[in-house]
Order: sequence, then C-alpha cells, then structure tokens
Amino acid sequence: MAKGIFPIDKLQQIETPFYYYDAEVLRKTLCSINEEAGKHEGFTVHYAVKANANPKVLRLIREAGLGADCVSGGEIEASIKAGFPSSKIVFAGVGKADREINIGLDNNIFCFNVESIPELEVINELAAAKGKVAPVAFRLNPNVGAHTHANITTGLAENKFGIAMSDMMKVISEADKLKNVRFVGLHFHIGSQILDMSDFEALCNRVNDLQNELESHRIRVEHINVGGGLGVDYAHPNRVSIPDFKAYFDTYAKKLKLRPGQTLHFELGRAVVAQCGSLITRTLFIKEGAQKKFAIVDAGFTDLIRPALYQAYHKIENITSDEPMEAYDVVGPICESTDVFAKQIDLNRAKRGDLLAIRSAGAYGEIMASQYNCRRLPKGYMSDE
Ligand SMILES: *Cc1c(COP(=O)(O)O)cnc(C)c1O
Repeated sequence: MAKGIFPIDKLQQIETPFYYYDAEVLRKTLCSINEEAGKHEGFTVHYAVKANANPKVLRLIREAGLGADCVSGGEIEASIKAGFPSSKIVFAGVGKADREINIGLDNNIFCFNVESIPELEVINELAAAKGKVAPVAFRLNPNVGAHTHANITTGLAENKFGIAMSDMMKVISEADKLKNVRFVGLHFHIGSQILDMSDFEALCNRVNDLQNELESHRIRVEHINVGGGLGVDYAHPNRVSIPDFKAYFDTYAKKLKLRPGQTLHFELGRAVVAQCGSLITRTLFIKEGAQKKFAIVDAGFTDLIRPALYQAYHKIENITSDEPMEAYDVVGPICESTDVFAKQIDLNRAKRGDLLAIRSAGAYGEIMASQYNCRRLPKGYMSDE
C-alpha cells in the first residue's frame, strides 16, 4: 500500500517519529535549479547548509554540483565531509569564533562573508598567523523589508545582521589597509520564505545603486552574493513541489546589473530541501475534548519547532486512513502549550497507531531538533536507501 508518495509498508517498519526524504523530489528540485540558473551567465548557487545538514541530503546536493553556504565551523566540517570542494564553501554569520575562522582558513574556503570591522580585523590577524590571505566579502544590510514573518526578516536596519550601506566605503578602505585579507565581493540576505518577487527586485535596485557608488570610486568587485530566501508553497506540497526557480533567477537576470566578468552568487536553503522532507509521526491517542478532538502524536516541537517558533503552517495527512474527514487539533507530547502542529484541520479519521505525515518539513526541521524533555533526536531516512 502506498498513499500518495509514501511507501506505507516500508515506513511502518521504522520507529517513529522520523524524517523521510523523497530523493526524487530533491533530485528534481536540484535539476530545476541547475537548469534555470544555468540559463544566465555567471550565476552560481550555494546551498545554505543550515536548512538541513543530514549527510544523505548533503550528498545529493553536492552531487548536483552546488556549493555550500555555511554559518558555523561545524557546517564547514560537515560540508567538507560530504565532499563539497573547499573552493565552493562560503562562511557567513554575525558571530564567528576564532576556532571557526581558523577552520575556514585551514580549509582555504572560497570566501568569508564579514559583518563588522572588528570581525575583519580578527580574520586579518588569524590569517596573518597562518601566513595566509583570506578572501572577504562584506555583508551589507540593504534595509529592504521582506513580506514574510517578522522573525525571519534579516535585511532591515533594525536587524543585527550586516554592515550599514552608508559604511560601505569605510569598511572597504579598512580592508585595503590590512595585508592578510583581500576584498572580493558584496553579500546580502534579506530574509526567508519570500514569495513576492518584488522583494528581490528591491534588493536588486539597492545593489545597483551600491555598484554605481563603487564605480565612482573605481572599485569593481569580483562577485555579488544576494543570499537566499526564496519561499515554498507549504499549502500545496504535492501540486507545487518544485519552487518557481525560473521566476526567481529571471528576476535577478532582469533587474540586477552585473558588470563584465562579475559572478552572481545565490544561497538557497529552504527552496532546495523543504518539499522533499516529511516528519512521519504515529498517533498515540485520540482524545475527545469538551469542544474538539485531539490527535496526540509521538512527535513534538523537539522534532519540528517551526509551528511553535513561527506559527508556521505545515500540511498534515493521515497516510494510513481512507476514512471520512474529521477535524482535529494535532498536538505533541511536550509539556508546553505551544506544542501544537495544527488546530482544527481535516484528517482522514484517525485512530491509535495511524501514521501522520507532516509535510514540507525538509528545511529547518531535523536540523533544529532538540532533546528537551530528554527526548531522542529524530533520525532521517532517504527514500532510496
Ligand atoms: C539562512 C540564510 C540563507 C538561506 O535562507 P533560505 O531562506 O533558507 O533560503 C542564506 N544566506 C544566509 C546568510 C542565511 O543566513
């Protein structure tokens, strides 16, 4: 028996809760990225490892030829272990520890995305100690709002990320004075789960203005990195399993004025992995409340925190029932009122033992799992294992 994309008999054998990754969806997604980005000269895509660092997921992404965008020393190590060439690894993040910077230096990564002058000075010092010159890009805060959840906008002046645009020339001249860093690019990232292409257009306009300013100082950078942020359709994981990469890359091709020889880098996370993953959980009890029915499942926010953290919506399906639809609150076992996956959603009538699939959970799911309540971390399985 297989309901939708799920091989039920196989899934029944595995201890719940666990993540199930559909290799075919991931491969098709990667193909679409390569096809659409490949239409434009100089477009290069790095995968934002923080979305999902499961080794099996990383392997498929590396096989497709994407680079890796890392935000910690641990992610650099995970990427290298998964076979990403260090020439395709970038290291971003507002607070890089010395140990982590040294990991980047030791591996001769492609670029450090730097977020402040003190950080630039530390990278220069640590590189000097190793007799190396570190390639650096500056992450500028473009003060562009994104139409997404407040907790995942990053490009506003009030956010902690990046360097103010008005300080651009100052940091560049600072880098010029330091012998062990080499200024190679500009970096931006405005937020996540963005579906309105006009937000990316606004970023393109900012980048164009900044490039004009650079040009007036006779400065040309080797690459522009516009970050990630493309969203996915959480409501329709089956019908819209592949994000609209064509619209995304075409927007940048049309609106961002690259100078001759410049490359344009992207750091996509969610759009690469969200739709290939589901959290599979077993129904423990059906509880009839005074006003509604609860499906109490064995997964909690320790396994998937997005609903509790961002009020995120995930489609949920009962993959072991064809009974008529009934309304449920789907809740976990954790001793917190926010441990709720969905309220008053329709499911095929559920009974103890039924498997529910919490869809579109491939990004910021397994990787954000915790052991609160002394729970076990969920495992992840690839469909072609
Ligand atoms: C999180 C992050 C990304 C990836 O964001 P998505 O919304 O998952 O595409 C890219 N770049 C930086 C610097 C990030 O912090």
